[in-house]
Formats: sequence, C-alpha cells, structure tokens
Amino acid sequence: MAQAKTRKAPKVAIKKACGLCGKSGRLYRTACCGNWICDDHQKYQLFSYARNSCARNHDRYTICGVHHAEDHEHPDWKTCPECREHYDKLEMFVWAATNDYNFTKLENPPAFEPTLCKKCKRVIRLGEDGYSIKGRDYFCEGCGSLPRLG
Ligand SMILES: [Zn+2]
Ligand SMILES: [Zn+2]
Ligand SMILES: [Zn+2]
Ligand SMILES: [Zn+2]
Repeated sequence: MAQAKTRKAPKVAIKKACGLCGKSGRLYRTACCGNWICDDHQKYQLFSYARNSCARNHDRYTICGVHHAEDHEHPDWKTCPECREHYDKLEMFVWAATNDYNFTKLENPPAFEPTLCKKCKRVIRLGEDGYSIKGRDYFCEGCGSLPRLG
C-alpha cells in the first residue's frame, strides 16, 4: 500500500501592499484599523496640505482615523455618535466616511444639504474644493479670495 504523503498546503505568499494605493514598499499597520498602509508620513511637506501621503490621508481625512485619534469609546466608527458630531457639517462627515482614503467606506451615508457659496450660489464640495468661511457663511474660491494685486 502506497503511503499517502502528507501534502503540505501550498504556501500562498501574500504580498503585503498598501490597502489604499496598492504599492508595496515601506508599510506599517494603521493604529486605527490594522490595515497595511504606506509608511510615508515623511513625504508630506509641512503646511503644503498636499494629499500625497497615504498614511496621513487616512489619519487626517477619514472618520476611521479621527475616531481613533479622538479616542472615542464606541467600538465602530461607522455607528459612532461622536464621529457624527465631529464636523460642523454633515457633508464633511460623509466625505470623510466615503472618500478614497478609506479601506472600508460607510455604506448608505446620510443625505446632506449641499453647501452653497453665499455670494454666487455655486455648490462647494467641502472635501474637494477650496473655500473660505466668514462667520457661518461659506464662499467659493473665486468669491472668497482677496482681490489679486495687479
Ligand atoms: Zn499607499
Ligand atoms: Zn483606519
Ligand atoms: Zn467616533
Ligand atoms: Zn462664489
């Protein structure tokens, strides 16, 4: 009788890659949700507000990152009441919960009133567009910026 060889399950080499951009390289696990992400905080230049760092984008621009940084008690950011209160505008919550810096996005995000420029009534997408705030009024980039010299 032929001896049955115990076959080892083939080892699947799971290549680690950033869950956001798919690059493998210097990675680490996020403190908030334990996903692999580029260890690229150093790519961000101070005050540049560039969004070229996966690690920073997830930390700063997602509810997952905010929930962890603010140390909320609720177990899940998707149903955390404190997270909903974190931004003045529900729109910012929805953006932070559904943008591409998330590993898992919030399904069925709540509807929100669009933000309109006080002056020209254009819709301002708070997560993407430039804008300025005066009191409770929002101004689009064109209306809010100071007149250019020359
Ligand atoms: Zn990445
Ligand atoms: Zn996270
Ligand atoms: Zn929270
Ligand atoms: Zn405007």
